[in-house]
Amino acid sequence: MKCNIQVCPGEYEQKMIFHTVSRNHEFFVFEDVPAEVCSVCGDTLLHPDTVRNIETLTRKRKAPERFAPVYQYS
Ligand SMILES: [Zn+2]
Repeated sequence: MKCNIQVCPGEYEQKMIFHTVSRNHEFFVFEDVPAEVCSVCGDTLLHPDTVRNIETLTRKRKAPERFAPVYQYS
């Protein structure tokens, strides 16, 4: 499928990505999320089912697989 960004000549490709969600000053990082990613500009599309699944996972507050440090860039 052609990229949604008007001037971009790229095509979306199925990839597994890292996806970060922030809510109320909390961050949730998801690994191996299936997404459509533009081969040129990197525009990313998530399927609505994937978005719903991520919402559910952040609400359930299941124990994470790993922890990651968060840095302030200044
Ligand atoms: Zn693009």
